[in-house]
Amino acid sequence: MKFRLIVLLIVAGMLIIVTGSVVAAVEGYLDGVTHFRHASLRIEGGKVVYFDPYGIKGEPRDADIVFITHTHDDHFIPSDIRKVLKDGGAVVITTDGVNRLKNLGYQNILAVEPNQAHQVEGVNFTTVPAYNPDKSYHPRKNNWVGYVVTLKGVNYYIAGDTGLIPEMEEIKADVAFLPVDGVYTMKAQEAAEAAKLIKPAVAVPIHFGVVAGSRTDAEKFVSLLPAEIKGEIIQGK
Ligand SMILES: [Zn+2]
Repeated sequence: MKFRLIVLLIVAGMLIIVTGSVVAAVEGYLDGVTHFRHASLRIEGGKVVYFDPYGIKGEPRDADIVFITHTHDDHFIPSDIRKVLKDGGAVVITTDGVNRLKNLGYQNILAVEPNQAHQVEGVNFTTVPAYNPDKSYHPRKNNWVGYVVTLKGVNYYIAGDTGLIPEMEEIKADVAFLPVDGVYTMKAQEAAEAAKLIKPAVAVPIHFGVVAGSRTDAEKFVSLLPAEIKGEIIQGK
């Protein structure tokens, strides 16, 4: 009897340690992540990277890389790129934005299309398709993208402006940033379906509060996630 009790206590203790470390890892995934306006993100993990910078305060000029998902003017804002990019830093952008950047004097530019793998400034990333399957705002033929960027061993998927698309099933990400505005990209329910396809440990709603969508959409998205995906709203934190 005593032996069984000891075994039980050991197993319980191990479970606490294992569960505890998983929770700690999941929480660590969002360390160094900032969500500015709309779909604008900064992630610091060895390198400093921004996605679609918008509404940046001051001129931090700390970005090793700025990633632009597409050339709509709520994602590609040259004045915000200017505020965040280090001297000599790289801009990764879809091919349709390259000439505008060159005309502004940028030289360290990488043009991308969907389904590519690259390394820039020591950061590995892949591009994935981003498009509306059922609307005309983001046609597939534009070759706009989302990114899966690896920083300190964590894979971050930044979806760009996309609907719920079958390609999401192939995406391997620990953290997924998904748009939830309900007009130009996905409704909260669709974004939750997207999360179920991708199966990240953490899902973060973006693309609300400016052009379309509200915090209510973000909250609804989080409430619809299955228990194994931790939903977190980080805008305004
Ligand atoms: Zn767009």
